[in-house]
Amino acid sequence: MSVHYLKWDLTKVTPEPMERYCRQCGRVVPFEDSFRRRQNANGKDIYEYAIYKCEKGHTWNKKLQTMKAYPGMINPQQPAGLFSESIPEVWYRELLQTGITFIQIDIEYVDKRHRLDLTLSTRIKDMSRETIQKKIKQGTIQVNHLHVAPNYSIRTKDTITILVQDI
Ligand SMILES: [Zn+2]
Repeated sequence: MSVHYLKWDLTKVTPEPMERYCRQCGRVVPFEDSFRRRQNANGKDIYEYAIYKCEKGHTWNKKLQTMKAYPGMINPQQPAGLFSESIPEVWYRELLQTGITFIQIDIEYVDKRHRLDLTLSTRIKDMSRETIQKKIKQGTIQVNHLHVAPNYSIRTKDTITILVQDI
């Protein structure tokens, strides 16, 4: 039996796709979180942005939070620059081909409500929400080795296991 281990920090996930006006496209289009974050320092404040992209790849920086630079902080004026905090995408069929038996996802942090079915269908790129709901109901997707409902709210320290089998 082989297990593919993943660690997810759900405070870094913004699963809701959103629509907004893209200046370059000239119309309202869907934007997706690229899971890249950027910090800009401006005087005493440090701004953190999520980089969103439209389908054509135009970017929009969504302001996430402002942090105060405190006295003694190392180089508060220096921008932290671009860094990736991405949760890697999961491709179920690739894992199926490698002969993996289980995917185990350890949830490190949760900040707000994340539905189990929605969260998994957002991150597992080749599995529909309907398939995921079916697997949760069948018990081939479990949380802490227990049967749960598709609308289960994921909690910090939860362990999600997915039995990898033909779909
Ligand atoms: Zn655009």
